[in-house]
Amino acid sequence: MDELTNRWEHIQQRIQKACHRVGRDPNTVHVVAVTKYVDSERTSRVLDLGLDHIGESRVQDAVPKWKSLGDRGTWHFIGHLQRNKVKEVVGRFTYLHSLDRFSLAEEIDRRIRQKNKPLRCFIQVNVSGEVTKFGIPPRELEEFAREVANLSSIEIIGLMTMAPIVDNPEEVRPVFRELKRLQEKIQRLNQPRLRIPHLSMGMSRDFDVAIEEGATWVRLGSVLVGGGMRGG
Ligand SMILES: *Cc1c(COP(=O)(O)O)cnc(C)c1O
Repeated sequence: MDELTNRWEHIQQRIQKACHRVGRDPNTVHVVAVTKYVDSERTSRVLDLGLDHIGESRVQDAVPKWKSLGDRGTWHFIGHLQRNKVKEVVGRFTYLHSLDRFSLAEEIDRRIRQKNKPLRCFIQVNVSGEVTKFGIPPRELEEFAREVANLSSIEIIGLMTMAPIVDNPEEVRPVFRELKRLQEKIQRLNQPRLRIPHLSMGMSRDFDVAIEEGATWVRLGSVLVGGGMRGG
């Protein structure tokens, strides 16, 4: 078995085990293969494994990959998004994991209508409260969600968070549990445009714990493709 296949097999086993521990169906956990550390060649090998969902955090890294990979893959924008880049994201990416302010939501809504292409968005929540992290503070989430739901075209499918970097992933379990609690709180509003079935949480170092706490999308970079821990 080659090295990449091996890594993917191992990840699938960890997903199954985490699901088993809490009685979840492994089919409810989806993987975004984060390829920001690697080139088009390696990204194409990820696609060859049957992984379709590819995550990038910068438009300028994704563009050369699209050029060489043609129409392959379903693309997720996972990085901080500048308003002036929205026009490049809508129409090419299918998912956005980092909706974190109203001005961005308005611009996305406008471009979706203009291009007639959908963009499925996760609201990024700064659960841990770290000042270095983007995201809506938990206490402002409900109001933010209601405002965004009033925009006619944007589609909100869930919440996303990034846990602090710690040695022992058990330490960040409360962060994931809190995102789940916030999801349930928004769901109780019973607003048809805020059904938010998805939770995007868990990365290479903490995805097992995130799955135990209800992640439906995990974003896996280094554990899958190798490569550095570059920021962004
Ligand atoms: C880079 C990145 C990831 C993947 O990180 P790993 O720790 O390498 O798995 C996931 N989510 C976001 C938002 C990222 O920027």
